[in-house]
Amino acid sequence: MAVVEKELLCKDFLTKDKQLLIDGKWVNAESGKTFETRNPATDQVIGKVAEGSKADVDKAVKAARKAVEEGPWRKMSTAQRAKLMYKLADLVEKNADQLAQLETLDNGKPINESKHIDVPQTIETFRYYGGWATKIEGETINANPNMFTYTLREPVGVVGQIIPWNFPMLMAAWKLGPALACGNAIVLKPAEQTPLTALRIGELVLEAGFPEGVVNIITGFGADSAGSAISNHMDIDKVAFTGEDKTGREIVKASVGNLKRVSLELGGKAPNIVFADADIDAAVKGAITGIFFNQGQVCCAGSRLFLEKSIHDEFMSKLLARVAKMQQGPGMDEKTQIGPQVSKDQQDRILSYIDIAKKEGASVACGGDAPAGDLAKGYFVKPTIFTGVNNDMRIAQEEVFGPVLAVIPFNSVEEVAEQANKITYGLSGAVWTSDVKKAHKLASQIKAGTVWVNCVNMLDPAIPFGGYKMSGYGRELGKHSIDLYTNIKSVWVNLG
Ligand code: NAP
Ligand code: MG
Repeated sequence: MAVVEKELLCKDFLTKDKQLLIDGKWVNAESGKTFETRNPATDQVIGKVAEGSKADVDKAVKAARKAVEEGPWRKMSTAQRAKLMYKLADLVEKNADQLAQLETLDNGKPINESKHIDVPQTIETFRYYGGWATKIEGETINANPNMFTYTLREPVGVVGQIIPWNFPMLMAAWKLGPALACGNAIVLKPAEQTPLTALRIGELVLEAGFPEGVVNIITGFGADSAGSAISNHMDIDKVAFTGEDKTGREIVKASVGNLKRVSLELGGKAPNIVFADADIDAAVKGAITGIFFNQGQVCCAGSRLFLEKSIHDEFMSKLLARVAKMQQGPGMDEKTQIGPQVSKDQQDRILSYIDIAKKEGASVACGGDAPAGDLAKGYFVKPTIFTGVNNDMRIAQEEVFGPVLAVIPFNSVEEVAEQANKITYGLSGAVWTSDVKKAHKLASQIKAGTVWVNCVNMLDPAIPFGGYKMSGYGRELGKHSIDLYTNIKSVWVNLG
């Protein structure tokens, strides 16, 4: 392996006890319980983490409420708030290599992706929202000459944030960034499979000097535990959730007690549409990034590849030739392009979808099982492509969340537009063509929150991201996140 023991920058962090962050202090769970997190490449335990539950969430909510109502956080100028956020971004940058290693060890993703995508995007997200902290403004509205009327944008208050395991640190940044910029206090729950980078970010939050109680981090489980304690909590004003649509429904149900605000970023089954007039080599590369980036554990993965019939065979031979060269291995190896899935459960789930597709009559063009040999101890699945798929099969309709691509041929723009939209999800879609008219027409026809033309998986903290249909509601990133994390108050002053 390219990374040897002496280069392991996160060793100290890995060996110490991982506790909960409540009210600016690291504490054990009330129950005293802990759980293990594993390296998906080896199945080895890499850390023991406090198992927070309802009692800990209650303490964290109390601390957050105090921070947002009475603490120095409330009294701080927005410039001071911005300064803390820039400091946090700087500290992430200073610890970039260590955080990248931690992310790769806990999640399994290739170190080159942790280093060049997850960490820099985390830094940019904190910087982008640091910039927003000083630019959140109300309005004056001259509706009535006898009245002076203006609006205030106030923090929502105490915010619960529940995040998944596929981009553990980046999802924490997407959630913390805008919530902090708007002056809220937070109770964050990372996914049980990948708690480590959020906890390290918690240390950096304290090092940056955020007042106690502003950021609380409760590691633990979701259903019937820390996660549901957050979504049910009567003193949490808003919950932001990223994860599966099934869990999203539970979050919405749990919100009815105090009618807390909810925003949801859920799954996807994105169409990646390639026309015969596209730059085929670029589209082949795009198809690979679309489905194999992060081992396919991407909510906007281009998991349905629609190929115009006339280029189907040429495209497939180029695609398969490239996939055959992809280097699969442990994420810590610099050469690795495709790592293990995050957990044994995910590996099993993906392999069961592969069986379903085979039974449905789809043909395995490559992959189709788990690798043997050295990789068998980890949670690996070979990059897998199915041809002969039709859009009604389960492999084309259900989110696999793994390195499994369903290839569907099409004949016309009308046909592909209809099929692309024949799905319960609507998070993203991509179109490859050199015809500007076709590109814009499809961009407006695809029912999804993001459409990429001649590119895939482009993300930027300034560009809104979120779903249509069962991919959720609310938009994260960009200025739209500010709406998620503020209340608008109208003030009327009688001048008469
Ligand atoms: P998940 O099971 O829904 O878990 C997400 C988070 O919710 C975890 O922290 C989990 O805790 C917690 N949770 C689970 N059940 C809960 C409950 N009843 N109440 C409150 N919290 C609960 O999703 P996942 O398997 O981690 O992630 C994969 C899914 O997320 C995929 O479907 C993917 O498409 C989606 N996703 C969407 C986006 C997006 O931006 N739209 C981004 C990433 C992922 P535990 O870890 O303890 O289970
Ligand atoms: Mg892990």
